[in-house]
Amino acid sequence: MSTGALTIDLDALAANWRALDAMTACETGAVVKADGYGLGAGRVARRLAHEGARRFFVAVAEEGAALRKALGPAPEIYVFSGHMEGDTRRLAGAALIPMLNSIDQLARHLEALPGHAFGIQLDTGMNRLGFEWSDWSEAAGIALDHAPVWLMSHLACADEPDHEMNPYQLDIFRQMTDGLGVPRSLSATGGILLGRDYHFDMTRPGIGLYGGLPFDAAQPVVRLDLPVVQCRDLVVGEVVGYGNSWQADRPSRIATISGGYADGLIRAMSGRATFWHGDTPCPLVGRVSMDLITVDVTDLGEDPEYLTLIGPHQGVDSLAEAAGTIGYEILTSLGSRYARLEIPG
Ligand SMILES: *Cc1c(COP(=O)(O)O)cnc(C)c1O
Repeated sequence: MSTGALTIDLDALAANWRALDAMTACETGAVVKADGYGLGAGRVARRLAHEGARRFFVAVAEEGAALRKALGPAPEIYVFSGHMEGDTRRLAGAALIPMLNSIDQLARHLEALPGHAFGIQLDTGMNRLGFEWSDWSEAAGIALDHAPVWLMSHLACADEPDHEMNPYQLDIFRQMTDGLGVPRSLSATGGILLGRDYHFDMTRPGIGLYGGLPFDAAQPVVRLDLPVVQCRDLVVGEVVGYGNSWQADRPSRIATISGGYADGLIRAMSGRATFWHGDTPCPLVGRVSMDLITVDVTDLGEDPEYLTLIGPHQGVDSLAEAAGTIGYEILTSLGSRYARLEIPG
């Protein structure tokens, strides 16, 4: 095979959903935006539906429509970006539930799709999506008259358990929603780990399902193996790759791997990431280019058929750290050229 192989462990995914579900006394949804964090929203959501998940979340209506085809009619699909201009037919056709974010969206929705289910997203301090306090004071009466199915908000710092923003947002959320008699949802993966006060009626984990921090007890879900195109010997003083950024200081064996920044192996990994062959680390040398990466396999003593970038010795988050980013970005950058294989296969 000439492309990398991305292996997705659906049993581990399911185990992560069950583990997060077991931490709360409320319902557990599943966030499958950005094509299921790069792993394939359809396969991820079908497996989680089988496991018992009933409510799924995507970022935009287009994702929701594709997910509806994969999931069939029963599960609920929510759209974080709400009811945007041009969304009406898609929301209606795929029976998607927009989480309305503003008075404008509320007006658009009630006019375009009267009687069509909606939720409300409230801004409790992150200043990204949702009704601000003043908008909510103005529009809550009208919104509540039309029976929103959920009131939700999102935490900005939930991956830092001691951050003062967490209790602050919790307090604002309570003030905006207490006593309204509408089911509530505040927490993603990080919020689940903050404890009972943050759980309300439903949680919305994403990254934890896929094996990422801050859910440090997660089972790994992803493995990435990249095939070797060719190997060559270098004498001392020879250089590798664009910009001559690596030079051999000993006689070296260099493997060229099929995969590069066009496959989501971001250029910031250059000179910093490590590949593995079984238990032997093989450092990435030189610059990551579009389709190829060069790796020092001198210490391996053999020419490998493939090398592992994400696997037992290096999870998504340790790779992210080497690349100066977060697991979310590593996952959602994973390219379309990989063969996506499933366990169980
Ligand atoms: C992405 C997202 C989630 C899931 O967050 P994770 O940190 O991946 O668990 C939940 N809610 C909202 C509003 C989101 O944007």
